[in-house]
Formats: sequence, structure tokens, C-alpha cells
Amino acid sequence: MENLIYLDNNATTPTDERVVEAMLPYFCKKYGNPSSIYKLANESDMAKEEARDKVAKLLNAKPYEIVFTGCGTESDNFAIKGTAFANRKKGNHIITSSIEHHAVLNACKWLEKQGFEVTYIGVDKHGVVNLDELREAITDKTILISIMHANNEVGTIEPIKEIADIAKDNGIYFHIDAVQTVGKLPINVNDLSVDLLSMSGHKFYGPKGVGALYIRKGTKIDSLLHGGHHERNRRAGTENVPGIVGLGKASEIAMEEFEEEERRVKKLRDRLEKGLMEKIDDIIINGHPERRLPGTLNLSVKYVEGEAILLQLNHNGIAASSGSACTSGSFEPSHVLTSMGISPETAHGSLRFSVGRSNTENDIDKVIEVLPPIVKKLREMSPFGKGKGIR
Ligand SMILES: *Cc1c(COP(=O)(O)O)cnc(C)c1O
Repeated sequence: MENLIYLDNNATTPTDERVVEAMLPYFCKKYGNPSSIYKLANESDMAKEEARDKVAKLLNAKPYEIVFTGCGTESDNFAIKGTAFANRKKGNHIITSSIEHHAVLNACKWLEKQGFEVTYIGVDKHGVVNLDELREAITDKTILISIMHANNEVGTIEPIKEIADIAKDNGIYFHIDAVQTVGKLPINVNDLSVDLLSMSGHKFYGPKGVGALYIRKGTKIDSLLHGGHHERNRRAGTENVPGIVGLGKASEIAMEEFEEEERRVKKLRDRLEKGLMEKIDDIIINGHPERRLPGTLNLSVKYVEGEAILLQLNHNGIAASSGSACTSGSFEPSHVLTSMGISPETAHGSLRFSVGRSNTENDIDKVIEVLPPIVKKLREMSPFGKGKGIR
């Protein structure tokens, strides 16, 4: 859309044109099935393995530790259900947090129906998981800890290394949902000391419909999809070669550009935060003040509905989000914000701006210009008190 100011990069990102260009030959010209044995097929196979090298390099993993999947959701389900079933003789207990993405939460809920026990540990007011609660939750039946690297709604970055140490001390597998951090923060699976890591192409300028799961060598995990011998028997199904090539290209670009780009994005986010704080009363910034994704700004605007603000922003050509995309459209306040102790009323007035590669200073300044009068007008109409002559 022309002139659109897109500030919803945590929901999805535009595919980088260099990524599309890398993918195109693998639709009509180099369409061979990587499992076949002629030259056309070998070309596909080589492209797929080259992409695996690039993804592995971005994570400092070994190529054979990368399994391509259909999305971040599949990677999360694979990691959690796969380790749960492969290790059920050892135990049936899983620990996760109350602020995970629904891909993790609902996979865990389903496992509860299959006889597994899940502990959902809480977070503090900034959205940081409670490590004491985590330590106390561990039993001799605990087989997996799954905690997100950074939260998609508020951007809080979790203390992964500390959790990894706790997991290691207790001989428990540790999975991180890194869908929001891959391509934004430096990631080294050995420094972080994780056993499993989920990522998704469309969250860092790759295509939709492709993701990957890092599985540390030696990790006991069952497959979700059974069929042919693809992905070293871990994920059956003819590989999405164009998507995989795109994921590889996105990883290569991220590797080269993310540091400088994230500095730029953080500056824009900080400019937006400062500008809105100066011009609007009674707003609360959600998430950790420092340990936060560089592009994420989640704020609660008191006395108004987030959805009402979003509609007005949309009229002005600005795309943002209230809470997470998965919960908008429902009237439930965000599970992330309520877990952080934010009241349902305040949570209903929350907005998420997520800055990305396409954004410029002009975009930010437009929001700083447009949003304050929208809030003022909505507050004047609000039944909640503010604006009804109180101020
Ligand atoms: C988007 C997202 C997912 C799901 O990824 P898809 O590729 O859209 O299935 C999982 N976890 C987090 C933290 C996300 O932001």
C-alpha cells in the first residue's frame, strides 16, 4: 500500500527483495525434487544445503543441527511435543511461562490432555520470568523448560543464560522460542547454552511458510510428521525449496546487516517513545526499560480502547497492533499484559508499535503528530472519566 506507515514488524515483515530474487529460480526453472537423482534435483538439493549452512552460521550451530519446518508455530510444537514424547519414560513434567506465544502455550495445553503436567511460571512487572519460581517448579520428573527469548508483545528479553544454567544443573532440556530475536539480536546457541531454538522466516524479512528448529546434537526428540526420509528423518515431506532458499538468504542478510540496522531501529523506537511520552499524559510503557527488543514499543493509553486508536491510526495510513495479532479481534485482554500485573482496563488501552527496516524518521514523526489528537478526541468521548471535565 502506498504511503503506508508500517509499524507492525513483530507481526510480520515484508520479504526483502533480495530474498525474493534468490527464491525465484526455484519455482519455474530449478524445480527439481531434492530427493531425486538427476542434475535438476541435485541443484535443488545443493541450494537447500547451502541455505542450511547460512541458517546454521547465523546461530553458530552445525548445519546438521538445523531442521527446516513450515513456520515458527511448527518449530515450537516440534520442540515441545517432540521432546515430551521422546522423554516420557524419564518424566512427564514441563515448565514454561505464562507470557509465551500461543504456539507454545497451546502446545503445552494439548500435552496436558495427553497426561503431561505443565507448570506456567509467572513474570515480574517488566515481563521477566521469575527464576525463583522456576527453580522451585523443578521436580525429578521435569524433562523440558521452554521459555521465549524475547516477548513478541512487549519486547522483554528473558535471562536465557541463567535459565540455561538452571536447566543444565538439573539435566533438563531447554528450548527457546527465538522467533522475535533471530535476525535482531546476536544469537549463539553455544553461548546461550540452549538445546532447541525456534525461528521463523517471515519475522525477519524472509518468506512466510518456512521456519527452522535448531536441535542440539544428542537431543532426544520424536518427529511430528512421519513419511519419507527428509531432513534426516526428522520432518517428512518434500522440502519447500524456494522457502528454504529464502530463509537462507534472509539469514545471510541479517548476519551482515543486523547490528547497524538494529542501532538505527532502536533510535527510531526511542524517538517514538520520547515523542509520545512528551505529548500524551497518562501513558505507561510496558516491557523492560532496557532489556527490550530494539524496535518494540508497547504502551498503555489510559481511559481509551486500544482498538479505537488502531482504527483511527488506520484512517491515517498507520498500521500498528494492540496486544498480539492473535488476540486482536477478541475481547480478552492480552495474557502477557495481565501476567505482568497490568489491570484488564489498562491492558485494553494498549498499543504495540514495532519498528523495522522500512521505517524512517518521517514515519515516526508522523505518528508523533497524529496520535496525540486521536487520544485527546477519544478521551473526550470516553465514559471512563478522564476528559469529562476532570482535567
Ligand atoms: C510469530 C511468532 C510465532 C509464530 O511464528 P509463525 O511463523 O507465524 O507460525 C511464535 N513465537 C513468537 C514469539 C512469535 O512472535
